[in-house]
Amino acid sequence: MAILETEALILRTYNFAEADKIVVCLTHTFGLVRAVAKGCRKLKSRFGASLEPFTLARITYYQKENQELVSLNQAEIIKSHFDLSAQAETLAGLAYMGDLVIEFSPPYEPNERLFRMVKACLEAICQSQSDLQVILRYFEIWLLRLEGYLPDMRRCGECDRVFDEKEAAFVNTDLVFRCRDCSQGSGRALSKMLQSQLRATQRLAPFVFAQESRVVPESTHREMAELTHRLIGRVLEKQPRLGSTFNVSHVR
Ligand SMILES: [Zn+2]
Repeated sequence: MAILETEALILRTYNFAEADKIVVCLTHTFGLVRAVAKGCRKLKSRFGASLEPFTLARITYYQKENQELVSLNQAEIIKSHFDLSAQAETLAGLAYMGDLVIEFSPPYEPNERLFRMVKACLEAICQSQSDLQVILRYFEIWLLRLEGYLPDMRRCGECDRVFDEKEAAFVNTDLVFRCRDCSQGSGRALSKMLQSQLRATQRLAPFVFAQESRVVPESTHREMAELTHRLIGRVLEKQPRLGSTFNVSHVR
């Protein structure tokens, strides 16, 4: 039995047995971890408020061989993010992020870049809750990319030619990016503004991306949401649970 220690973002908790909870968290070192927190629903629990969703905590846990559910030993708050839960829209956005991370990430598969990206998006939301929707789009693009579901946006998926900055990419129902010649009139041309936004996600941190996106027209934000939701919907073979009702309605 090994004792492991890592930084973790609490994503979701469920009540379990009489006084316990199951905690699903994204960890810095071990990927997505599901842990039992024994006795954490008792009045005097050693876990205190450390297992509230979107708390950043330092956790230690025991893992027995061949057991998927680990046993949480300790959780120490690094940053609570509790203030974010006062805003219903922010809370729904965070829950959406947490749900997608859980849907996309295979358990116990280390993905440090994913951890850093989610943490950076959370910090960006902390700094500017009014940019929530733009930061969620950034999060979606990066989640797709880091889990290997983002089509190559820089070159034509058919002839492999790299798009120049002024040229429109066409996206068909198969969600492959193609040049005008290869698309042969089928598919929809992405706006130049959207293509520039997509490129910006790849070079900017989420907070800077959100700031620079404030001058971007509403129609481009909508176009980006449509694209990311189609890409995510394809991966999940359905629209994401909250994505279809929450996100799209808010960007309209
Ligand atoms: Zn082509």
